Amino acid sequence: PDPNLRPERLPDDTDRALRPQALADFVGQAEARANLRVFIESARMRGQAMDHTLFFGPPGLGKTTLAQIMARELGVNFKMTSGPVLAKAGDLAAILTNLEARDVLFIDEIHRMNPAVEEVLYPAMEDYELDLVIGEGPAARTVRIELQPFTLVGATTRLGLLTTPLRDRFGIPTRLQFYTVEELEQIVARGARLMDIPAEPAGVHEIARRARGTPRIAGRLLRRVVDFALVEGGGKITRAIADNALTRLGVDDLGLDGADRRYLMLIAEHYGGGPVGVETIAAALSESRDAIEEVIEPYLLQQGLVSRTPRGRMLGARAWRHLGLAQPVANPG
Ligand code: ADP
Repeated sequence: PDPNLRPERLPDDTDRALRPQALADFVGQAEARANLRVFIESARMRGQAMDHTLFFGPPGLGKTTLAQIMARELGVNFKMTSGPVLAKAGDLAAILTNLEARDVLFIDEIHRMNPAVEEVLYPAMEDYELDLVIGEGPAARTVRIELQPFTLVGATTRLGLLTTPLRDRFGIPTRLQFYTVEELEQIVARGARLMDIPAEPAGVHEIARRARGTPRIAGRLLRRVVDFALVEGGGKITRAIADNALTRLGVDDLGLDGADRRYLMLIAEHYGGGPVGVETIAAALSESRDAIEEVIEPYLLQQGLVSRTPRGRMLGARAWRHLGLAQPVANPG
């Protein structure tokens, strides 16, 4: 095994080390992966920049990882920035003019880009051109700069917050889905192997089924379980060690964490199960609406613990059972 992956080097190095490097090592997202393989191969055969690609879906599902894999498989450089970091048009211009032919430019949180910066992106994406305004007032003039052909890979947790013109400029929009328990088992087992920690299948399963459908969470839980296994468990991941570690970390039987449970409890105890508006929930929990909609709700919705209705969020029967509370008889209206 790689000496960089010795347990004593944990946890700092593991995140990068666990990242799959090739499309073939990337578990799950079968449909997205199959399509990307074709588009990458075709771009290589044509010797042209691959079409602009947009990844959307909840955090931690592999958007950044896939963008890096694309660059590696295309045999080009990978440059990375994010929407909020690009304050001025000039910031983006500086990055774009430094790209080499067919490079991949990854912009994370692309829905949070300043509109003035976004304007610069349109001609760059469409015609590989940059229109820059130089100077101010009567002396101001526009210069056009030719760019190398490049591939923009955008990532967003909120497709709905993208402007239509920006969204329309991506030839390959790709939604990432939550992972199945079986897929997460493969990811956890691979991680344990890379860390050189023996793991029983039942221990791997326990981590995978409580990882909220999310590889990033699976990796994080694995590292914590490894800590407990090394210090208190004889160095092996078993079901009992995993269960004990996860419970002590506040991850419950469904894989929900404290924030998830506070959200469900609030709707149950203060709003009789709903419907209640997301703004009200955000205020009561002192969380941003974005965090609730991007991080907390997608998994709870997917699990059928809550549903979205025109009048607000409603708890499902499964949530009442999970909280150990009796569901009130249907409220009138
Ligand atoms: P996002 O950009 O969607 O927030 P990342 O690409 O940063 O997510 O992935 C988060 C973590 O999960 C990374 O450490 C990555 O190694 C791991 N990961 C994501 N997808 C997979 C996968 N399909 N197989 C293995 N590990 C994955």
